[in-house]
Amino acid sequence: MKLLNSTLDLDAFFDRLRKASQRVLLLDYDGTLAPFRAEREQAAPYPRIPPLLDEIVQCRRSRLAIVSGRATTAVAALLGLKRTPEIFGSHGAERLSIDGTYRSPTVPEATRAVLGEAYRWAGDQGLQRQTELKPAGIAFHWRGLEREAAERIRQSVRTQSSRWSDRSGLELREFDGGLELRLPGITKGDVVRTVLAESDDQAVVAYLGDDTTDEDAFETLAGRGLSILVRTELRPTKADLWLIPPEDLVSFLHRWLESCK
Ligand SMILES: [Mg+2]
Repeated sequence: MKLLNSTLDLDAFFDRLRKASQRVLLLDYDGTLAPFRAEREQAAPYPRIPPLLDEIVQCRRSRLAIVSGRATTAVAALLGLKRTPEIFGSHGAERLSIDGTYRSPTVPEATRAVLGEAYRWAGDQGLQRQTELKPAGIAFHWRGLEREAAERIRQSVRTQSSRWSDRSGLELREFDGGLELRLPGITKGDVVRTVLAESDDQAVVAYLGDDTTDEDAFETLAGRGLSILVRTELRPTKADLWLIPPEDLVSFLHRWLESCK
C-alpha cells in the first residue's frame, strides 16, 4: 500500500466513513477484484473477495456498485455474490440497478451491423479467442500473447477500425491488454458523475480500478472521493492510493466493512 497523494490521510478517511450518512464503494472487476486470465470467461475473483463483498452488501450501509468494461451479465455471473449488486456494464452503457431494473445501451442499427461485421472479421482472422462481443462494443484482447502476436493484432485492428468508425461513430480506445471499439462519449468517468449526482454532498465515496479506462473515473472523483489504483505494478496515475492485490485489497475492504458496522 502506498499513498500517492501527499494530502491523503487514510485514517481520517476511515473516520469520515464511520460517521458518514452515505457510503459509496465503486469497484472495477478485471484486474481489480479478479486476477487476469487468458481465458477471460474464467476470470474468477480472488477467493477472499466475494465473502467480503457479501458482508458489505448485507451490512446495508454502503452502496456497492461494480463498474466494468464487461457486459453486465458476464460480471454478475463471474462475481457470484449471494445477491447481485448494482452493476454498470460496458463502461456504463448498461446499468443493472439493485432492484433488478436493467437499462440496456442504445445502439443504433447501423452500429450494431458494424459490430457484427467486426466480429465476423475477427473470426476470419482466426482471432475468435481474442475477441469479446459486447452489447455496446467489441474488444480485442492480447494479454498473455507474445509481443509480436500482440502487435499484429494491434496493427490489424487499427487498420480496420477507421473503416468501422467512419460508418458507425464507434470509438477505438486502447486499454491495458487490448483495443476496444465502443460507443463514443461513454466512460467510467460518466458513471462516477451519475453516482455523485445521486448521492448527498457529504457521501463518502471510493473508486478502485486498475486500468487506463479507470483513469477517467479517478479524474472525475478528484477532490470529491478517494481514487485507488489496484495493481501489481505502479504506473503513472491520477489515483490517491496504490494497493497491491490481493493482500492490500482485502485489508482495505476489511477496513471498509469495519467502518460500516
Ligand atoms: Mg480492470
